Amino acid sequence: MKIELSPLPYAMDALESSISSKTLELHYGRHHRGYVEKLQGLIEGTTHEGAELEHLVTNSSGAIFNNAAQVWNHSFYWNSMAPGGGGQPGGRIGVAVNRSFGSFAAFREQFKSRAVGLFGSGYLWLTLDPGNEQLALEALKDADNPMLHERIPLLGMDVWEHAYYLDYQNARDRYVETFLTNLANWRFADANLEKAA
Ligand code: MN
Repeated sequence: MKIELSPLPYAMDALESSISSKTLELHYGRHHRGYVEKLQGLIEGTTHEGAELEHLVTNSSGAIFNNAAQVWNHSFYWNSMAPGGGGQPGGRIGVAVNRSFGSFAAFREQFKSRAVGLFGSGYLWLTLDPGNEQLALEALKDADNPMLHERIPLLGMDVWEHAYYLDYQNARDRYVETFLTNLANWRFADANLEKAA
C-alpha cells in the first residue's frame, strides 16, 4: 500500500476557536506532509517499499520508524478531534472511563497532569489494555506509540510544541484544557473501543 497523506477529516478552519487554521495549515500541511514525504523517500527501493504503514510502525527502527510513526500518529490525532467535541463521553467509552478512572472528573485531572507533565515532545494516549479491558493514560515521548507497548490506542493528543505554540504559546495547560472541553472526539474513541473488543 502506498504511503500517502491521509485527508484531514474536517475543514482547515473547522476548529478555529480552539485550533486556528494557521496552526492546521502548518501542522497538517507542512509537518504531517513532511513526515509522509520523508518516509516515501526513505523506503523507496528498499524491502520496506509497499509495506503497510502499521507494519512499518511496529517493525522498523531509526529514521523509518520515526517518520512512519509520525505519519500514523498525526492521522490518529486529527481523528481524535472533532468540531463540537469534548465534554463527558457517553456510550461504551463513557462507562469504560468511569470504570477505569473512578469518575470523569478524576480522568480529566489525570489527563491534564500527564499531558502537562510530559517533558519535551510526545503524545498523550488514552489506551486499552486488551488483557484486562482497563483504560489507561500513557504519556509517550517523541513518536512512540502504544501499539509498541501491547496497548490499543483509543484517543491521542499531540503535545509537541508545533501543535499549540502559535495559538497558546508556552501555555500547554490551556491547549490541554481546550482539547478536553471542545475537541476530544469521543465517537472516534468509542469506535476504537468497539473495534478492539
Ligand atoms: Mn505534530
